[in-house]
Amino acid sequence: MKDSIINFLAGFEKENIEKSFPLPYCLPVYHCVSDESLPHIKNVIKYKNVRQFEEDLDEFSKHFQFVNWDEFKEFVNGNFKPKKKIALLTFDDGFREFYDIVVPILERKGIYAVNFINPAFIDNQDLMFRCKASLIVDRLEKTTTVNPEIHKIFSSKEDIKTQLLKIRYAEREKLDQAAKILDIDFSAFLKEQKPYLSFDQLNILTQKGFGISSHSWDHPRYHELSLQHQLETTHRTFEYLKEHHFLYESFAFPFTDFGVSKAFFNEVFKNKEMFCIFGSAGIKLDSVDKIFHRIPMETVENAAKILKKEIIYFKLKKFLNKNKIIRR
Ligand SMILES: [Zn+2]
Repeated sequence: MKDSIINFLAGFEKENIEKSFPLPYCLPVYHCVSDESLPHIKNVIKYKNVRQFEEDLDEFSKHFQFVNWDEFKEFVNGNFKPKKKIALLTFDDGFREFYDIVVPILERKGIYAVNFINPAFIDNQDLMFRCKASLIVDRLEKTTTVNPEIHKIFSSKEDIKTQLLKIRYAEREKLDQAAKILDIDFSAFLKEQKPYLSFDQLNILTQKGFGISSHSWDHPRYHELSLQHQLETTHRTFEYLKEHHFLYESFAFPFTDFGVSKAFFNEVFKNKEMFCIFGSAGIKLDSVDKIFHRIPMETVENAAKILKKEIIYFKLKKFLNKNKIIRR
């Protein structure tokens, strides 16, 4: 219902996105770009192909000025006066496609990006639990007979695939159990597919001028963690990035910042080297200073459509006085 109203209104949104965009900065977030069907991602993220991604970039370039990390910081500090509203391109999860596919496109177009990564997955030491779910679902779709033992893992009568995709961070061991029953070898997959960036690639990306920043240690859902655990995973990643000379001064929430309390931000910003934090609530303001919300770009729509819908949604929320996240 909400979506159909937004869709309807977006049809009337003026063509001039540059003018109607309500904030001075635009922060798109992607995970992956590929022309291939990637079994570990496709069931959890609707990533774009190369053509769609390039079209998105060209759309952004029409309305915004892409900036690099230093320009973004100077902009936030009020020392950088851009000619247009700015855009900072971001990626999450540190997938290898960033190196193989995205960076060559960005180098050709002269666009900077930062990738928020999880140290637990560097060099393909492990697979994020949602990617495990996607991979298991992919295998299930390709087989006709399934070991009935799988039903022992789940208590509800719901479709197995639905249940696999609903598994929470705290229950992620269920995915390892399911894989065992279904004879899926995650280690072999990691070795063969190499879904994540290697430590060497992260260094090369840094040398090329791209940002490698924090996305927590192993991609938990923050609102499922205790405050202490939230702080531990954030701090551990900060220390790791700093030790290895990556971009340690920012952090982007895995999944969502939804439900994260003010106490978390108070604690994290006691670290004066933490410059800012990124959420992904779309075009949105936040009661905590130095949280910037990014626009998820991996819907099935193109950038022009997503931006128009986001602009309309922000206007509606503003009208209802709900365009700002209030933390307690
Ligand atoms: Zn992520």
